[in-house]
Amino acid sequence: NDTPFPYPLNPDYVNWKIHYPKFFDGTDEENQKVFCNTNEHPQTYDEEINPLYNGLNGAQPVFLDIGCGFGGLVFNLAKNFPEKLVLGLEIRDKLVNFVSEKIRALRIESPDHKYNNAACIRTNAMRHIIQYFRKGSIEKMFFCFADPHFKKSNHRRRIINTGFLSEYAFLLKPKGRIYCITDVEDLHNWQEEHLAKHRMFRKLSEEELVGDICVQLIQDSTEEGQKVTRNGGKKWTCVFERI
Ligand code: SAM
Repeated sequence: NDTPFPYPLNPDYVNWKIHYPKFFDGTDEENQKVFCNTNEHPQTYDEEINPLYNGLNGAQPVFLDIGCGFGGLVFNLAKNFPEKLVLGLEIRDKLVNFVSEKIRALRIESPDHKYNNAACIRTNAMRHIIQYFRKGSIEKMFFCFADPHFKKSNHRRRIINTGFLSEYAFLLKPKGRIYCITDVEDLHNWQEEHLAKHRMFRKLSEEELVGDICVQLIQDSTEEGQKVTRNGGKKWTCVFERI
């Protein structure tokens, strides 16, 4: 094990209450703590958690932003879908801390208790995603401006590839959706090609995407997306449904 941070053995070891106190019986104080500053509050996963708090019977994340960066999409999804628990997964601790601090501020500032449904965890999604979530529990997964890994020898590190797609298919509910957006045409072609040839995914047509607000949200919610817009760059998107 060469990962420097803890991760759960399986979803029974994840306590979602500490991330989304208001969706359980948490107090205002707990809600504004946003524990997941990785320095102040190192997360451990030593104990199996009461099923009420690990998503078996209780609330659990259904929208995942993989590699959430500075968290712009997490905040926007949380605002637009107040009933859905939104989770950013990010490997860099400084970014996790930034997003967590911002969630704390948004929760405190928001008079009508918005953003109680937003959280961020530090993890290597490519290694550990399967240990956090239950089979068929996820409604939407977002891959915004993923690292392109240009060199051919590094293509296996791309976050969309056949092996990982089988894990994502396992986690997604039937008809759950994967959203991809990138400014790198070669990466877009790679992502679309791998999704299209995977037997658990089906590409959604433009007509099928009418009314899906997430298609708009991924364009300019993330910091990377805003940067591409500022620089006049082009963006490619595709959305696939889990069969
Ligand atoms: N999605 C954000 C956006 O659009 O602004 C960030 C895009 S940035 C180019 C890619 C992000 O993915 C980085 O913040 C990086 O740390 C994160 N990342 C890369 N590999 C990861 C992994 N295996 N698990 C979690 N996060 C990862």
